[in-house]
Amino acid sequence: MIIVKFGGTSVQDEAAIGRVIQIVRGKLKEKPLVVVSALARVTRLLVSMAEEAEAQHEDNVKDLLSQLRERHFNLAKNLLAQRPDLLSECLGKVEERIADLETFVGGVCLIGELSSRSNARIISTGELLSSTIISYAFNANDISCHWIDARRMITTDDNYLNARPDMEVTEANIKRIVGLEYKGADLVLTQGFVASTEKGATSVLGFEGSDYSAAIFGMALGAERVEIWTDVDGIRSADPRVVKDTRKIDVISYEEAAEMAAMGARVLHPLTIEPARKKNIPIKVLNSTNQACDGTLVTLADQSPDGPKSVAVRKEVLFVKIVSPKLDGVTRMFGKVFASLYPRRVPVTIAKATESEVYLVIPEVVGETFQDALEEIGKWAEVTVYRDKALVSVIGRNIVGFEGLGDKVISVSGKVYLANVSANMMSENFVIDSDRLQETIESLHEYIFNK
Ligand code: ADP
Ligand code: ASP
Ligand code: MG
Repeated sequence: MIIVKFGGTSVQDEAAIGRVIQIVRGKLKEKPLVVVSALARVTRLLVSMAEEAEAQHEDNVKDLLSQLRERHFNLAKNLLAQRPDLLSECLGKVEERIADLETFVGGVCLIGELSSRSNARIISTGELLSSTIISYAFNANDISCHWIDARRMITTDDNYLNARPDMEVTEANIKRIVGLEYKGADLVLTQGFVASTEKGATSVLGFEGSDYSAAIFGMALGAERVEIWTDVDGIRSADPRVVKDTRKIDVISYEEAAEMAAMGARVLHPLTIEPARKKNIPIKVLNSTNQACDGTLVTLADQSPDGPKSVAVRKEVLFVKIVSPKLDGVTRMFGKVFASLYPRRVPVTIAKATESEVYLVIPEVVGETFQDALEEIGKWAEVTVYRDKALVSVIGRNIVGFEGLGDKVISVSGKVYLANVSANMMSENFVIDSDRLQETIESLHEYIFNK
């Protein structure tokens, strides 16, 4: 079996779904499980709908609902024009889901309260709608396709918006259900992102979570490979939306890809690598609008060459400096700092310590719990939070063998607040002022790849 996952832009309209059908048709012999995201921008629309409902802005909610209805109805009508029988069945199902959502957000609007459980239920609708329409589109193109509700397969904890699967239960579900559904079908199709808790409530795997779903399905089924179809020619030497003249990476190791995701490269969801690496399942990142390009292969380390592969950025990080009046020692410094951070689950991208100082890079604007943690630390140390900082990372195997990265960064950015080599020697990281980010990554990229 293979897993074939299509992201939002790869299913955004009639033309994109036409490409999906053509791509999958060529792979039927390999028994694909197709995994789809919501149509481009739909998850964002649903997030706004949930917020507007909580704020009791009834008119805005109605407006968003009609946008959602129109987009999906039009798409179904265009795709199934030749098959009125399938069209009316499909529209029936789409309408049923949207009517359900309407009733549900109506309830949220009435009480003006949005739990993360309700929120997950709302934002899961995008994938349920897109997958329904795409499954009918396959059938209309003479590929008999069985639609599976991913909530029957991926069983998670009750952290509804960032849910984590119980892998044992999930693996057993996937094997059983996909095996059953494949009988009498050319193809089975399901949703990325959506899952359900043990008690049956809808949960989601976090934003961009469809990649993670694809890897989970791949692991459970022992797939020959996982294909991630997106809108760029594979994983590149930098985000092509940010840097010009990027290069395609032909082969990259699981560890390097995971490091890239951890350091902010958005191309793969950070948790995607883990399930694939566990069973050594190759991941291919491919472009649905340029199928001639052979994309990027993510595989075992010994197949990936040494040296820098990519520049990744986190545009907004907080840099925190904690200075103790005493020489506490590294162990005690870390112990005391994390005793305040860990119970509050404050995410930390990088931590460094000396005998009397700790430096932290915190990935995003975090909430009140972070402030609480800082106040607690402030009782025994001097805490300074530097805002408007960015994290620039160069990722690649044995990165330390590549000279001049630090000099380049400091010469363009003017100031480096923290320089770090990751413990796995897979990345060098620099905290700089956000307003110098663009020129810094451009010249760093130029220096590494085009010098
Ligand atoms: P999808 O909807 O298919 O999941 P995403 O938007 O999540 O697509 O991911 C693809 C995007 O990732 C690209 O359009 C690109 O802007 C961004 N990206 C960030 N870093 C990289 C990189 N190093 N290589 C390729 N794409 C990258
Ligand atoms: N639709 C979800 C999101 O945008 C999941 C995904 O596309 O990966 O976050
Ligand atoms: Mg994505």
